[in-house]
Amino acid sequence: KLYNQVQDLKGNIRVYCRVRPFLGGQPSQNSVVSSVEEGSMSLMIPPNSKLGKEGKKMFNFNKVFGSSSTQGEVFSDTQPLIRSVLDGYNVCIFAYGQTGSGKTYTMAGPDNLDEETIGVNYRALRDLFFLSDQRKDTITYEISVQMLEIYNEQVRDLLAPEEIRNSSNNGINVPDASLVPVSTTSDVITLMNLGHKNRAVGSTAMNDRSSRSHSCLTVHVHGKNLVSGSIIRGCMHLVDLAGSERADKTEATGDRLKEAQHINKSLSALGDVIASLAHKNAHVPYRNSKLTQLLQDALGGQAKTLMFVHISPEPDALGETLSTLKFAERVS
Ligand code: ADP
Ligand code: MG
Repeated sequence: KLYNQVQDLKGNIRVYCRVRPFLGGQPSQNSVVSSVEEGSMSLMIPPNSKLGKEGKKMFNFNKVFGSSSTQGEVFSDTQPLIRSVLDGYNVCIFAYGQTGSGKTYTMAGPDNLDEETIGVNYRALRDLFFLSDQRKDTITYEISVQMLEIYNEQVRDLLAPEEIRNSSNNGINVPDASLVPVSTTSDVITLMNLGHKNRAVGSTAMNDRSSRSHSCLTVHVHGKNLVSGSIIRGCMHLVDLAGSERADKTEATGDRLKEAQHINKSLSALGDVIASLAHKNAHVPYRNSKLTQLLQDALGGQAKTLMFVHISPEPDALGETLSTLKFAERVS
């Protein structure tokens, strides 16, 4: 409870930045990130860059995770938010960034998972089981999960892939999406594997659908206080967003262009919603995308939002990195 009060003082929207390390043992002297502090980081804009004035450019965050940060460190700063779901809060956690910047690594973990590298999704559920067990003498909790994918503004149930949903109900909710009760970490692993397998359906080598769609793991918590009889309801959406990179102007035609337009539209709609909430605007434009409609109940009001902004360290990625940081500035 105390944690929640502390969180509330800091506001309901938090933005964390995570810098991916260089891959494959490349030298890290080339990193565009020139410094990382607890609550800020800076980029080095090289001379004669079209992207801006030469020199250091600073960005502020609630928290910055440098390239050597571990999955455990990232989780420990996310844990209070996750725990608040058991007190009846709604929470959204987003992973934003260009393809290859580490979104899936943060949320799910790398392909060769182990105890050390497993991501936020699994750790979150493990933590909820642990905490609900600690409270079992006063509150009985039921925890269940959904896994959805949004591709080209269509919602698909990743736990029942044969049905592609057109969201005839305006997509505000997907009440008929599979809702699966979970009570152990092995239940969670089994479901996540199923979801990942189903997500791969529809991808081809040319068109990695997983980077072109948003995936959302939703955890529903229902608690009953055995003493007072009161009911606690909370939910948490763990969202691995589609890659934020702008479509290559020369390459994007046909399906590719359509995908890019949908992604662009939904990421900017998400940015608009969070920016309106951050600035306490009277009107919050939830209706402009499937993603924001779907998450409406968990964005705004008492709900808590955490945006993980991912950046790649490579000089080649500097343009995308700057536009990612611009998005982050808008929503903080
Ligand atoms: P995205 O989901 O944003 O497209 P990925 O999470 O797939 O990016 O990351 C791209 C590659 O970088 C993967 O091979 C992943 O394992 C690796 N990677 C990403 N973040 C880290 C990290 N923090 N530490 C080590 N490897 C990482
Ligand atoms: Mg990914």
